[in-house]
Amino acid sequence: MTDARPRLADVGYDTVVIGAGLAGLTAALRLAEAGQRVAILAKGVGATHLAPPTIDVLGYANGPVDSPAQALPEFAAANPEHPYRQLSIELVRASLDWFKARLGDHGYRGGLDENFFVPTALGVAKPTALLPETMAAGDLREGGRFVFVGLRGLKDFFPAYLADNVAQTPLPGRASVTTRVVELAPPLGEARDVSSAGFARRFEQPAFRESVLTELRRNLVPGEIVGFPAVLGIGGAREVWRELETRLGHPVFEVPTLPPSVPGIRVYDTMTSALRRQGARLVIGSTVAGAETGNGRLEGVVAHTAGRPLTYRARSFVLATGGFASAGLELDSSGTVREPVFDLPVAGLPGQNAPLFEPGYFDEHALSRAGVAVDESRRPVDDEGAPVYENLHAAGATLAGAVPWREASGNGLSLASGYAAASAILEVIS
Ligand SMILES: Cc1cc2nc3c(=O)[nH]c(=O)nc-3n(C[C@H](O)[C@H](O)[C@H](O)COP(=O)(O)OP(=O)(O)OC[C@H]3O[C@@H](n4cnc5c(N)ncnc54)[C@H](O)[C@@H]3O)c2cc1C
Repeated sequence: MTDARPRLADVGYDTVVIGAGLAGLTAALRLAEAGQRVAILAKGVGATHLAPPTIDVLGYANGPVDSPAQALPEFAAANPEHPYRQLSIELVRASLDWFKARLGDHGYRGGLDENFFVPTALGVAKPTALLPETMAAGDLREGGRFVFVGLRGLKDFFPAYLADNVAQTPLPGRASVTTRVVELAPPLGEARDVSSAGFARRFEQPAFRESVLTELRRNLVPGEIVGFPAVLGIGGAREVWRELETRLGHPVFEVPTLPPSVPGIRVYDTMTSALRRQGARLVIGSTVAGAETGNGRLEGVVAHTAGRPLTYRARSFVLATGGFASAGLELDSSGTVREPVFDLPVAGLPGQNAPLFEPGYFDEHALSRAGVAVDESRRPVDDEGAPVYENLHAAGATLAGAVPWREASGNGLSLASGYAAASAILEVIS
């Protein structure tokens, strides 16, 4: 008979982070860089593998936002329960600078003062504060003649639809945009993988790039800006992108695809490599469910893996388990919303008997704002505003008060709040 009691996972840590999305990776990396012993426990990868890699801080607030720095104070004042209310402009700016420095290999560009407007997979001009260099030439603000490249066989990328929508998308100012499509049929070789990741691996092979270049060159007109699906390699994407620009003699950019997100995987790979270099422990495939507590503090968390449960002890903990999409929040069949790891109080819900959902799919559903409310030290609080545990902090899509997809604020909030959680922990120990 096996003993089902949790075993203690080797030594204790300074901080255990639960979740390996952008919020958890940010908090963990900052803490590890500050010399902490850090463990990251995650059920699986986060939204990095699904979402574009752009850092959208604030894209919409009564219409498209040109400058997040200018729009944020008014936005936060008008939305007192929003997480940005507790994150100062200086902190958000610092988190962007920190991220740009960590993602140096991908040449992130931008900042808080101006949004780029770049096409989504569906051809909407999306405002975003930071983007990888491989996407920068897709900025639609200045207008231009855009060519979208289709790759025969690539699953879930629709260049004609994209080009049509970009041509019609409302743009700031008077930018004028024309679009067209060039469909290529490079040989796919033996590999059967027609996903974005499969094409990204092909782009890392010189012979595949050569056939793309040969076919594409014949089809371009001087002055055109060339948009590829975001599959220009995984580790070596920047080199692939540079080679295409140089050899085509045209600006080249990547357009995010539908999931999986190859450029999001690049972000994950870069951050987890940095974490490993800092000596952090990353345990993917580990679901945290349960805690050991004492004197108002969390002593340890219980993680379930393929083997037996393990207890991880630490001085501080960060909850970065995401929103409903990652099961950081759960809605049961009776309409009750739960935070499943610690059963924390859930804020942001409408009053009793008020509906959680509106009739239209794109309506603003009350449920979207549900999540965990935190104090200034980023600690989840109860209905009275008191911290539930002295040493538990929360970050990312688990937080109450935001509607990220409507605001275009998801990755910006995860980055800034993960950064802030690490700051709060470092302040306590300094
Ligand atoms: C398809 C898609 C497109 C998007 N597009 C955009 C966009 O264009 N712009 C934008 O800004 N935002 C976008 N977002 C939103 C954005 O990606 C998220 O808001 C943000 O990145 C969430 O990060 P996070 O770290 O808080 O959570 P997540 O990335 O969801 O990570 C949560 C982590 O917690 C882990 N976890 C959950 N429960 C447990 C548990 N019990 N034990 C252990 N681990 C657990 C998960 O496995 C995961 O590792 C998009 C999201 C999706 C899904």
